[in-house]
Amino acid sequence: MNSEISPILLQWYNQNKRPLPWRLSRDPYKIWLSEIILQQTRVQQGLAYYQRFISRYPDVFQLAAASENEVYKLWQGLGYYNRANNLMKCAQIVANDLHGIFPDEFSTLKKLPGIGDYTAAAIVSLAFKKPHPVVDGNVFRVLSRLFCVDTPINTSRGKKIFTEIARQLLANHPPDLFNQALMEFGALVCTPRPLCETCPLQQACYAYQNHQQNQFPVKRPKSIRGKRYIFYFVFQIHDQGIPAFYLKKRTRQDIWKNLYDFPAVEQSTPFSDPMDVLGHFPHQEWIAMHNASIGKVSKTYVHQLTHLKIEALFIPVFLNSKLPPDTKNSLLLIHQNILNKYPVSRLVAKYLTDQKIIH
Ligand code: SF4
Repeated sequence: MNSEISPILLQWYNQNKRPLPWRLSRDPYKIWLSEIILQQTRVQQGLAYYQRFISRYPDVFQLAAASENEVYKLWQGLGYYNRANNLMKCAQIVANDLHGIFPDEFSTLKKLPGIGDYTAAAIVSLAFKKPHPVVDGNVFRVLSRLFCVDTPINTSRGKKIFTEIARQLLANHPPDLFNQALMEFGALVCTPRPLCETCPLQQACYAYQNHQQNQFPVKRPKSIRGKRYIFYFVFQIHDQGIPAFYLKKRTRQDIWKNLYDFPAVEQSTPFSDPMDVLGHFPHQEWIAMHNASIGKVSKTYVHQLTHLKIEALFIPVFLNSKLPPDTKNSLLLIHQNILNKYPVSRLVAKYLTDQKIIH
């Protein structure tokens, strides 16, 4: 292994690192929070969320005491809501069972909800300066190009190989600085379209020397994408003179668990004719008897995830009187002026904004 790589990376980092707030601290709470927020999220987007969380919950005790709705609302727009769920569970364990102290051992950290290899390595190396390599997407890219590693990065064998290379590069260097240097280098220089002409590692880089930058990193193709179709019924009424909407909390184990949305029909095949769905109307007979009027079906709203594409249609239903009590669907009647206190998926938020129901 080229012994010059690590000193060059450290020097580059010293001169080029971005002044990100979590880098100013060795507080494991702040490092943990930033790492959870930054998973699957760009730094620019994650930064605003991090600042909002830190100003609302400056320590783990305050996060542990927060209500689920409040945390989900603050998380809204980041997606992958099981992260928010694990965030709360982990904060509660650290605050209530561990006296607010994050463990400093890799294996103990990994027992906490939402903390996997990557986050545990980040906490022990950045907060406690222990020599654990941190391997994220940026690190995969840099190392695969530097050392011509063509083992797919999304396999356990690939993860082992890259972790071992990073471990060797890290040896005898400050673990916190080295790990951040390698990740930052991947984020700013050895990007998907790398800035090779100004790269200080040109001489040591296999991909550059062989004009193969675009061939690394190698990924094993993902499984076939799934599709889901949702037809939302937007029941609305004037309640005490204020527009109000019927919402329900999603309790099913899926990507939107604990978020709020409207009563809906969901299926894995497209709706051949949206009007067919009217046959699935909740409270169909009651609505017919109470002269509810039905608005126009919305345009199609699309939410694309790595493995799943969701297409949604919304239909407004204007009611003249409140729906009958419904224990099965647990509908809540929410006034428009407080609707934005309820966490909703990005797709529902887009519809509500388009309709000028929330701003
Ligand atoms: S020379 Fe290009 S491909 Fe090689 S490490 Fe530098 S930026 Fe990445």
